[in-house]
Amino acid sequence: MSEVKHYDVIIIGSGPAGYTAAVYAGRANLNTLVLEGIERGGQLMITSDVENFPGFPEGIMGPDMMELFRKQAARFGATLETKLADEVVFDQKPFKVRSSETWYSADAIIIATGASARFLGIPSELAFKGKGVSACATCDGFFFRGKEVAVVGGGDSAMEEANFLTKFATKVTILHRRDEFRASKIMVDRARNNPKIEIKTFTEVDSVYGDEKTGTVAGVKLKDTKTGEISDFPVQGLFIAIGHDPNTKMFEGKLKMDAQKYILTEPGKTKTSLEGVFACGDVQDSYYRQAITAAGSGCMAAIEAERWLEEQHS
Ligand code: NAP
Repeated sequence: MSEVKHYDVIIIGSGPAGYTAAVYAGRANLNTLVLEGIERGGQLMITSDVENFPGFPEGIMGPDMMELFRKQAARFGATLETKLADEVVFDQKPFKVRSSETWYSADAIIIATGASARFLGIPSELAFKGKGVSACATCDGFFFRGKEVAVVGGGDSAMEEANFLTKFATKVTILHRRDEFRASKIMVDRARNNPKIEIKTFTEVDSVYGDEKTGTVAGVKLKDTKTGEISDFPVQGLFIAIGHDPNTKMFEGKLKMDAQKYILTEPGKTKTSLEGVFACGDVQDSYYRQAITAAGSGCMAAIEAERWLEEQHS
């Protein structure tokens, strides 16, 4: 293993948690590397208006906010590499992280790899992924100008995506498998009051159909979750907004996780089951999952890492 460079801290991930950890680690004078991933910036890169991050009274676009986070991290000296971490070695000190052919080492690790959008997992969805089936309205909404689309889910994401899509689509139908919503009341009301949005409850997507060659979706087969009845619903786009899975594959067997594979941290801390390894943001938080809480826990992780490193050297 040819070692390239040693750091005090390696931060894996570049959402609000990772960049905030980098700001704090940099300001604490720790030699810090951030492996940002290939699509840096995390989930806010595919979010439209962020209205609830304090300090932005008019709201801010997700990608604009992440650019500000990144600039701030760079200002305090963190080395930012837009590269994917492929492998970690946690059973020896210093810890090691591989990105492609390059190995890095560090005395402490901060994991901020976040979570990724979930898909339904039906074969026809896969056939049309990126060709009419999307998990990102901000990225793909533009392609549905003047068309009719559907959004699957009953959480805040589904409501937000549906509202956003009305900027382009002539009609947006929210398809939800129950008649109770995980989404906050204000978000459901906003969707209900939008004349371009219709909400269909007790409805699941059974399959997607269209022309795979030209990459156009023509509609979906819907299943009534009470009666099992199948019906046809013509739409040109299907947006999946059914939640997220933590990005923890690389850490399986190395750190303790819960049943959903979120990294377990000590209550009120970012300390994982392994000394010197800290986790912050959505990768360890299935409850709040907000940019502001992710940023807060990124700050905690950097402070904890700094203190832990100091203890090791004293
Ligand atoms: P979520 O709250 O977990 O909601 C997921 C939704 O998808 C649920 O309605 C769920 O239905 C449905 N679902 C899950 N698996 C499904 C499947 N296989 N088939 C059909 N439906 C399925 O996820 P989220 O909406 O992504 O929100 C995640 C977190 O981010 C929340 O804390 C939310 O408040 C936050 N968020 C906030 C904002 C904002 O404030 N602007 C925007 C977006 C997200 P069931 O209810 O039946 O399980």
